[in-house]
Amino acid sequence: MRRLSFAEHAMWQHTFRLVALATGFILGNMSSARADDRDQQVILAIHGGIGLERHEMTPELSKELRAALRVAIETGRKALEAERGSSLDAVEAAIRSLEDSPLFNAGRGAVFTHEGRNELDASIMNGRTKAAGSVASVTIIKNPITAARAVMERSPHVMLIGRGAEVFATRQGLDIVDPGYFWTEQRWRDIQRRWEKERQEKKTRDQQGAAVEPGHAWGTVGAVALDRGGDLAAGTSTGGMTNKLFGRVGDSPIIGAGTYADNAGCAVSCTGHGEFFIRFGVAHEINALMKYRNLSIDKAAGEVIHQQLKPAGGEGGAIALDKHGNFAASYNTDGMYRAWLTRDGKTQVKLHDD
Ligand code: ASP
Repeated sequence: MRRLSFAEHAMWQHTFRLVALATGFILGNMSSARADDRDQQVILAIHGGIGLERHEMTPELSKELRAALRVAIETGRKALEAERGSSLDAVEAAIRSLEDSPLFNAGRGAVFTHEGRNELDASIMNGRTKAAGSVASVTIIKNPITAARAVMERSPHVMLIGRGAEVFATRQGLDIVDPGYFWTEQRWRDIQRRWEKERQEKKTRDQQGAAVEPGHAWGTVGAVALDRGGDLAAGTSTGGMTNKLFGRVGDSPIIGAGTYADNAGCAVSCTGHGEFFIRFGVAHEINALMKYRNLSIDKAAGEVIHQQLKPAGGEGGAIALDKHGNFAASYNTDGMYRAWLTRDGKTQVKLHDD
């Protein structure tokens, strides 16, 4: 083959550079066009926790989970599109729907403590005002997310726990149920298995209940939403972790750990091993990386979930949404049940990396 002369070589290099530049320009514009495309904006996203690993999933359960996530998105969408519907309404409505399903570890399907009870936590936050509300360790409130919102809107406090939260919810006229309402066959079997394991391992009284099962069947629920007024909101609800000691509180009701919303940054709801999420202030950290380091929502969520939590042994994930409708779902586990709705009315549902 003929060798190129110096002049020909230079000309080819120049042409190549021009093509590369033009391609970069077009691609660059395409991605900003995508971000500006209002139809692509996510306006509501939910998660149903880390859930089962792919190899444990059955086709029947997958179908049920997907259907329940769709119902929750649809419920949230209606609230968002109602006259004067706000992101807070959408978050509350979507989470209530998930709390009413026995499939998730929140409300009805809450897991059992080491003592064989159900203790529920939830929180909600308004991204415009930074108002927030939460309840922890409640045992008779049917929908803890609604109680969290009541604390935010109808009390001077941010967080109420245990009996105080229950008395408050009762006085506010919220739905109160017998603790037996939260008993479900599946969760009861989970805790029986756990107790049996502890018996076999001959754990001392002090060691019991301390060991939770990392990565197994965490099905906490959460939602983030963006309304027509450009306001963000986030909320999270959970039964905590199977076999937790009574009185243990995880990240879900802790503002800045499991939930955060800030119009100047993003709305975040987390799921995973709560102790790590509290220590790393995960929801606030994602927001801070966007605000102060100008990271995209994807990068901010990815950095916390993969670079900070994972090396420390913290398993879990988060969904995050900013005021432009950019959405991120980041997890360092096998999957995270999730669904999202774009402005053009399309819903996507995913359980793992599929
Ligand atoms: N983060 C929750 C907790 O630690 C558990 C979960 O997400 O499933 O209470």
